Amino acid sequence: MPRIVQKYGGTSVGDVERIKKVAERIKAVRDEGNELVVVVSARAGVTNELLARAQAVCTLPSGRELDQLLAIGEQETIALTAMALNGIGVPAVSYTGAQAGIFTDRVHTKAKIKTINSKPIEKDLAAGKVVIVAGFQGINEEGQTTTLGRGGSDLSAIALAAAVKADRCEIYTDVDGVYTADPRVVKSARKLDEISYDEMLELASSGSKVMQSRSVEFAKKYGVVFEVRSSFNHNPGTIVKEEVAYMEQVVVRGVAVDKDQAKVLVSNIVDKPGSAAKVFRTLADANIIVDMIVQNVGRQGVANLTFTVPKPDVAAAVRVLEPALKELGGGEISMDPKIAKLSVVGVGMKTHSGTAANLFQALAQAGINIGLISTSEIKISVVIDLDRADEAARVAHAAFKLDAS
Ligand code: ASP
Ligand code: MG
Repeated sequence: MPRIVQKYGGTSVGDVERIKKVAERIKAVRDEGNELVVVVSARAGVTNELLARAQAVCTLPSGRELDQLLAIGEQETIALTAMALNGIGVPAVSYTGAQAGIFTDRVHTKAKIKTINSKPIEKDLAAGKVVIVAGFQGINEEGQTTTLGRGGSDLSAIALAAAVKADRCEIYTDVDGVYTADPRVVKSARKLDEISYDEMLELASSGSKVMQSRSVEFAKKYGVVFEVRSSFNHNPGTIVKEEVAYMEQVVVRGVAVDKDQAKVLVSNIVDKPGSAAKVFRTLADANIIVDMIVQNVGRQGVANLTFTVPKPDVAAAVRVLEPALKELGGGEISMDPKIAKLSVVGVGMKTHSGTAANLFQALAQAGINIGLISTSEIKISVVIDLDRADEAARVAHAAFKLDAS
């Protein structure tokens, strides 16, 4: 019998009506003669509500107690989904992460999955039951409940698909799949039929998040092919898989805009070995993630460093850098939060030249100025004015012929 792992996100199981709809979908797939393991998230908003309550009683709750609390969001939806199935005559059983044998390390609130003992699930599948598993949670070797980091139900689903050797893995959400650009900004954006793991990861890090990135990394590592699709309709979604040669014929697969970065300029620091190291060590020690970096070197023995950090961290970056610059013997810091990062992504860049030139030219024609530039094998990112970000996305989308025909 074909074996399918499905995952339904928070909006898909957002209320009892939605849960009944999901149960109908599961029944239909089962009636076609498939075995099903279904991972569900908490109802949309519940995990945030629980977190807010934790904050209301304690400013710094312990990880263990947070996990005890957060795990209940998914425990509600597994039980309700199993009941909804039973209500329409489908044998189903709900499992917490622990009951599903999802063993993690000991790091509360962002645990990593170590192993999955799928024997109990196998037994219930063999007995003809649909198995409903709580996403986002596991158990550590001391028997403590752990959670896998926000959005972690995606990871639960991908890991279970690998563990039970599923024939198919379907991630149900509230969008039809992965798009060439954000359809709210670029009206002509198209849903992609397929995308590679690496492209999906680069798009996520560039501001268009459809799934938890860790789960995509996990899928790549274990070769889990999956489909992202909507639970609100029956349209086919986007297949995510390892790239195949013909995928390289498309040079740019998608355009993303990240408006959550700010630019920091450190100017007039002494141009000597160790200056950049000091600046970035200081930021790293403050747990600030630096994205793009440009250094203009050495006129009159001084250098300028420009880089981007997440907007919420920009004040902290300035605060920790001030004393560090004093130690280096001087320098000034300024920042600009009114920027955006525009990225174009595609595995085809590995084998095609001129992508950067085409992007820069299209932006130039639109009169959009480029600040920082960074590239990877399959991505080109530029920093531009926040005000022009949406326009730039449309310009790049058209320039690379991604517009729907
Ligand atoms: N309920 C968890 C969260 O909101 C896990 C998930 O939805 O994937 O982060
Ligand atoms: Mg979610």
